[in-house]
Amino acid sequence: MGEFELIRHFFTRCGSATLAQTGLASRVVLGVGDDCALLQPAPGMQMAVSCDMLVQGRHFFADVDPRTLGHKALAVNLSDLAACGARPLAFTLALALPSADPAWLAPFAQGLFALADLHGCTLVGGDTTRGPLNICITVFGEVPVLASCGQALLRSGAQVGDDVYVSGTLGDAHLALKALQGRLPESFELPPAMLTQTRQRLEQPTPRIALGMALRGIATAAADVSDGLLGDLGHILARSGGHRAEGVDKGESASLGATLHTAVAVKLMAACANSTNAPANFKISDALALQCVLSGGDDYELVFTASPNVRAAVQAASVSSATPVTRIGIIEAQPGLRLVDGNGVPVHNGFASFDHFA
Ligand code: ADP
Ligand code: MG
Repeated sequence: MGEFELIRHFFTRCGSATLAQTGLASRVVLGVGDDCALLQPAPGMQMAVSCDMLVQGRHFFADVDPRTLGHKALAVNLSDLAACGARPLAFTLALALPSADPAWLAPFAQGLFALADLHGCTLVGGDTTRGPLNICITVFGEVPVLASCGQALLRSGAQVGDDVYVSGTLGDAHLALKALQGRLPESFELPPAMLTQTRQRLEQPTPRIALGMALRGIATAAADVSDGLLGDLGHILARSGGHRAEGVDKGESASLGATLHTAVAVKLMAACANSTNAPANFKISDALALQCVLSGGDDYELVFTASPNVRAAVQAASVSSATPVTRIGIIEAQPGLRLVDGNGVPVHNGFASFDHFA
């Protein structure tokens, strides 16, 4: 199978029913097949653009199910749109493949398009080359501009006194990763049913698109949790608290701080909270749970801040998007991330988040 047959067979589709229903088809003027795709944002909309790359051995295991890999490759990109409060429109796919293997490509495309259709996001182009397996997706979304003010959720808007929230559950993906890498504590073995449950979170994350859109105009700042809660909240703290000149990156010198509640954090792990899958004598220590929740990556939940005055609106956004949210801390003027236990006693923060070059 040649390059162009491969593109035609696996990555070229006619407009889907989902798109026609949502009316988004009109935004994609031209899709796969020409030198460029053409997108036409709706009037009063800004484009949100993000790019994420998945590299074999770094982001996924060589033997991972191609269907879940197709899902994850798009999910991590949609998660960035979610963090911005953007509605997905379209994406491009740059693929390096060791060979044109239909037995791999067909399920990969199925996993990819199943998630794309769920969010009305159209594949509009890409590039295909031979090489070590590498998947790079760029997503395009739209966010409304109201009275000359873009409604995208940014990392830079957190204010002193804001509540800190996270969506869904955290830590399970990291627990699965540790188990698969054989890096769990010696005495600890993850029961098979729980490995299945947590592995699902690692390999098929749920981008929180509906929540992100529902939080426009409510959240003051947001980011998605890809590298670990403390690290990703750290990006919000670093970018907030100053006067942000539009389009100017003031770097990441920490400006604000936060205190998080470890008693709340520990409960965010579905693997330890969910007793139905857990054998009677099974227990994840608070220390391991905290480590997974605070510094484990790959959850693709949202961490966001909002004024205490809008708690009801945050709850309403959670309900309307069918996405649980948990208040886990507060933004403070004193830089740095502090942890306190259920009695308000400080807990040593020795947690690090993931850094490819650390
Ligand atoms: P060019 O050489 O002009 O960059 P290509 O010959 O690489 O274009 O690709 C031909 C067409 O197929 C283009 O429209 C490109 O966007 C699309 N395409 C290539 N690879 C993929 C892919 N993996 N998924 C979707 N579209 C693709
Ligand atoms: Mg090309």
